[in-house]
Order: sequence, then C-alpha cells, then structure tokens
Amino acid sequence: MDFKGKKALVTGAAGGIGSAIARALKAKGAQVAVADRDVSGIDAAAHLPGDLCDPTYADALPGAAKDALGGLDIIFNNAGVITRGPVTETTDDDWALSLGVNVEAPFRICRAAIPIMAAAGGGAIVNTASCWGLRPGGNHALYCMTKAAIASLTQCMGMDHAHQGIRINAICPNEVNTPMLRTGFAKRGFDPDTAIAELGRTVPLGRIAEAEDIADVALFLASDAARYMCGALVEINGGKPVL
Ligand code: NAD
Repeated sequence: MDFKGKKALVTGAAGGIGSAIARALKAKGAQVAVADRDVSGIDAAAHLPGDLCDPTYADALPGAAKDALGGLDIIFNNAGVITRGPVTETTDDDWALSLGVNVEAPFRICRAAIPIMAAAGGGAIVNTASCWGLRPGGNHALYCMTKAAIASLTQCMGMDHAHQGIRINAICPNEVNTPMLRTGFAKRGFDPDTAIAELGRTVPLGRIAEAEDIADVALFLASDAARYMCGALVEINGGKPVL
C-alpha cells in the first residue's frame, strides 16, 4: 500500500486506533491532517483540533483539511465514544454525546467531503463502525445503535457515491486494546492488563486486537488495493464474532 502524495484526514487521531492510522499513513508517504480535541503532541502535516459535537467544526473539517494539505483524498471517520448500560440507565446527555460523535459528526463530515472529493475526481472514506453495529451486544444499547447507524449510512453512501469515484466503506472491529477499552475496565474496578489477557483467551487467535491490527485494515480500504470495494462492512475479530 503506497500513499505517497495522498492527503488524508483522521478524526480521533489522539486515540488508540486513530493514532495508529495516522502513524501508518505517514509511514507510507501520506500527508495527514489530524483532528481530535487535543492534537498538540501529534507529528502531522496539519493539526485541526476541535469538538466533533460542534456542528460548525464538523461541517468545516473537510474544507479545513483540504486547505491545510492542498487537497483531500482520504478520510477516516474514526472518533467515537462508548456509553454503557441499558436504555433505562441512559441519560439525555449520553444520547446527545453518542449520537453527536458516532453518527452526526461522520454524517456532517461525509456531507461536506463528498463534493470536495467529487470535484477532484474521487476519494475514499473509511468509517469506524463495530462488530456491535452488525449484531447486538448486551448492556451497550446506545453504543450498538450508533454503530448500526454508521454501518447503514456507510452502505447507503457506498452505493450513492460510487459513480463519483468515491469509495465509502467501514471497519467493524471487535475488542481492541486502546484507552476506550482499558478505561472501561478501570472504571469497573478491573486491572486493564489482567482483563485484556483474560479477554484474549476468548478469541480464537489467542489475543484481542492491537490498534495496528485495525489500522492496517483501515488503510487497505483506503488504498487502491480496495479499488472495487464500496459500502463494505469489514469485520476484524480474530475469529470471534459477536453472537
Ligand atoms: P479511544 O478512546 O482511544 O479514541 C477515541 C478518540 O476519539 C479519542 O482520542 C477522543 O478524544 C476522540 N473523540 C471522542 N469524542 C470526541 C469529540 N467530541 N470531538 C473530538 N474528538 C473526540 O478509542 P479507540 O478504541 O481508538 O476508538 C476508535 C474508534 O474505534 C471508535 O469509533 C470506537 O467506537 C471504535 N471501536 C473501538 C473498539 C475497541 O474495542 N477499542 C471496538 C470497536 C470499535
């Protein structure tokens, strides 16, 4: 996979999977614009900090990346938040945050990016859904619903914009060793290393994913090697699908 000369925007670039995507892109020759609430420590061609729950910021992000990099070929809509619990324990704030970051922001970013990419002859967008967007998961109703929404949006946009040379696909990871998973264990009183080792024993490959395992598949979908893929939902699960 060669990304020389490609200009890419990565959201959630300060997090586990986002930082792995940004590093891998840079290593393969891309110019990368990183977006997150705090991007100050990240080595990148452009820094676009902000809150994805701010519609003005999300709407403007593709244009800002294009202006900063001199073009925009690829977007990774990777930022996400997880809300635990059944709907009876879900607050209005949980609803607004989960929908805002996991669904509304990628919708806004895609809506703004598609005309930019179409005018330049095409592009690729990779959204981050989840195995929990494909099938239900216990005690995470809101999270699963938002990931199902971005999965569906990806399939629809993949059909609608292929004729413009824009390929839109999604990755659907199962458990990944990132701050999202680790802080979840810590909040529930578990030692993250022990919990992750135990979880790894439930995966046929013998371990849960590292961020780099996910980044490699995301880059594949953005690359010319995936040139005939549009609207695909690619599960990355080490042999452990959510049942
Ligand atoms: P992470 O918590 O390490 O990274 C998420 C990043 O998103 C953070 O840097 C955070 O600051 C950013 N973000 C959240 N809300 C934001 C906002 N309002 N504005 C700007 N940035 C914001 O988690 P991760 O595991 O790297 O998650 C990346 C993606 O992968 C998410 O969409 C997540 O739902 C998905 N995912 C993760 C797992 C897992 O097990 N870790 C599994 C399946 C899918």
